[in-house]
Amino acid sequence: MQELIMIKYGELTTKKANRKIFINILTQNVERMLKDENVEITKDSVRMFIKCNDAGKIAHKLQKVFGILSIVIAYKVNNNIDDVLNKSLEIMDQSKHTFKVVTKRADKNYPIHSMDYSRKLGGLILKNSNFKVDVHNPDITLTVEIRNEGTFVYTDEVKGAGGYPVGVEGKGLLMLSGGIDSPVAGYLTLKRGVNVECMYFESPPHTSEEAKNKVLKLASIINEYSGRIKVHVVPFTLIQEAIFKNCPDIYMITIMRRMMYRIAAIYSEKIGAKILINGESIGQVASQTLDSMVCINNVTNMPVIRPVACFDKLEIIDIAKRINTYETSILPYEDCCTIFVPKHPVIKPKLEKCIEYENRFDYQTLIQDAINNIETITNFKENEFEDIL
Ligand code: ATP
Ligand code: MG
Repeated sequence: MQELIMIKYGELTTKKANRKIFINILTQNVERMLKDENVEITKDSVRMFIKCNDAGKIAHKLQKVFGILSIVIAYKVNNNIDDVLNKSLEIMDQSKHTFKVVTKRADKNYPIHSMDYSRKLGGLILKNSNFKVDVHNPDITLTVEIRNEGTFVYTDEVKGAGGYPVGVEGKGLLMLSGGIDSPVAGYLTLKRGVNVECMYFESPPHTSEEAKNKVLKLASIINEYSGRIKVHVVPFTLIQEAIFKNCPDIYMITIMRRMMYRIAAIYSEKIGAKILINGESIGQVASQTLDSMVCINNVTNMPVIRPVACFDKLEIIDIAKRINTYETSILPYEDCCTIFVPKHPVIKPKLEKCIEYENRFDYQTLIQDAINNIETITNFKENEFEDIL
């Protein structure tokens, strides 16, 4: 293996006590992402190194691993300035004109200070090439990292995905619908290091197989940032029909969402999820006014994280486009919420009313039955649901 990638860790540098755990989980996530590649991974407390044959391809894959600040294709030489000079001249793009040298010394015992080293190497490059120095706006920034085991030189640094490695924060359960908001909410939560599993409520025959496949496709897209997404599909038809039969239509959505929260909270305990996550955004629809949220949230004590609560729809769409979920989210298949939507849902629901209407049917048995019949889908592969939509 000829090529070398060097990874700079993300925000972990600020989390001193947990550093080891963070780096270990990040390493597992990198290994998972590169499981089909021929690579050799090593690490220390500040950098991870990946020996490989196709650094461009590997760097591209690594851009979906959270916890990485940046990725560089690096070249290792001996700690000998002539070797460093030769490698630098080899990797500096000849079509560019100006450069500057930035030196970092992990090996503080190295006899020359960083600034002096940059000046010295810069002088040698000037003498041996046609490049000119420009310290303010160079075409090429040549970085030299001097470490015990050798010196690493590189010119291009690709931004990583940032955030924390998925898994450092434990598990959360995302309520994933086929809309625009909840996949974005899932992506943002994965980025904070939460190991996200998904729950989808389906109501066949009122909702179609396509609607479900759309959700699975969305799950497979956010799975590219995780590698271990599961989707728990809840049969919701009987609950939804009971609500339809027993409750005034202006309360249907509020009560339906209270049932979803109840099921998600009970199931969380079973799978060890510590938080619920959803795509609610304040004021977006009647069920997302503050009064509605209070009333809906009342069924559980679990923390409910709403990553897009304060975003405008256009801001959410921007992220959806960037992470590639948007085109799937806007496919027209009916969701279970859109089928039973009343013309004028209540925007200031009353808790006593919800309780009164819910007591008109045996929802606890229906909830237990739904939970007993959850189907869990796992092992998503890239592009798996492309041809069934
Ligand atoms: P949109 O982008 O059109 O707003 P949405 O998925 O956000 O779609 P909402 O009606 O706003 O739809 O629902 C708010 C949140 O409730 C969703 O973001 C999602 O987290 C959850 N939710 C709604 N319907 C379902 C469902 N069928 N299964 C799982 N979660 C759901
Ligand atoms: Mg929404």
